[in-house]
Amino acid sequence: MVHSDIRMDKNSVTDLVSEIHRLSKKIKRQVKFMEVCGTHTMTIARSGLRNLLPDNITLISGPGCPVCVVPNSYIDRAIAISNLDKTRILTFGDMFRVPSSVSSLEKQRSNGAKIDIVYSPLDGLELARAHTDETIVFLGVGFETTAPIVARVIKYAEKEKIKNFLVLSGHRLIPPAMEALVSSPGHNIDGFICPGHVSVVIGAEPYRIFAERYGIACVITGFEVCDILQSIIYLLEMISEIKEKSVYIQYSRCVNKDGNITARKTMYDVFEPVDSEWRGLGIIPLSGLAIKDKYSDFDAKKIPVNISSYREKKGCLCGMVLKGIISPFDCKLFGKQCTPENPVGPCMVSSEGACAAYYAYERR
Ligand code: SF4
Ligand code: SF4
Repeated sequence: MVHSDIRMDKNSVTDLVSEIHRLSKKIKRQVKFMEVCGTHTMTIARSGLRNLLPDNITLISGPGCPVCVVPNSYIDRAIAISNLDKTRILTFGDMFRVPSSVSSLEKQRSNGAKIDIVYSPLDGLELARAHTDETIVFLGVGFETTAPIVARVIKYAEKEKIKNFLVLSGHRLIPPAMEALVSSPGHNIDGFICPGHVSVVIGAEPYRIFAERYGIACVITGFEVCDILQSIIYLLEMISEIKEKSVYIQYSRCVNKDGNITARKTMYDVFEPVDSEWRGLGIIPLSGLAIKDKYSDFDAKKIPVNISSYREKKGCLCGMVLKGIISPFDCKLFGKQCTPENPVGPCMVSSEGACAAYYAYERR
């Protein structure tokens, strides 16, 4: 693993772009780099960075938005729970408008269900203390960044013996999804722009397998335009063998190779990895987090609800967008039936969704 000592203030976009063009000329083929973080997707779209790159470099978005990758079955379950008496659902804002097979949390609330948008799972504890006659169900959606915080809150609830706070875990782990992508036949990913915040928690080690087993260059990347440009340079240097294929930490101002050991310990105290479904990617082994038996009192999965067989929205290609097989522009519904005001799929709703990013900043 290699750390970058980049000083952002010494790098201009022009210099970085020139270097990318110089390196790309040495690579006489098309190369594809995938970003696996919704904030990278937004930075790339908002800055117009794609237009600055040489023709033989394509940036594609992967399954980097935690809201987008949650399958409809999860939202259907949350909606079914919200129909129960004396039950209140708490969710982060992005999840609120995502359409499921049957409805959305937003529509449910307009029909009278108790559904609140919160900014932190800690808000759930406060509500649980204030509404002891209600069951408070927090929708735990997010990657390794969010899961330790939710785990900590479950521990607080246990310590305080709060009985009416539950979590419906939709947490997912990023490296298993990346491995599912590169181990599927016909993938054409040359390098990963690895997520910044996730890597603060997991460190660099989990990406080593991509460089060593799959020959795919990896750079853990910060969120500024210069960070992403610098990472593209590292990726090009690795695929043109100027640098050894490895895991580079470009975002070294926040990420170290070991990650946050305390956060991971908290996360794995409460959660355990289980095979989990991802929208578009199917079931991926050990890619989600379930609440351990020890904390089952706080597990909303034990709430008995009937969920009729779920389905994806007709014509929505979010699954293929999340796999990086197509760009949002390739979906026939993009910008027509599907807009941020009237989203058909989650990738158009979430602030980290690829379709929303392309719609806001890259519409042709
Ligand atoms: S939490 Fe951070 S690293 Fe994870 S997808 Fe969102 S912005 Fe990217
Ligand atoms: S444009 Fe809409 S319908 Fe098409 S893939 Fe994106 S979210 Fe799904």
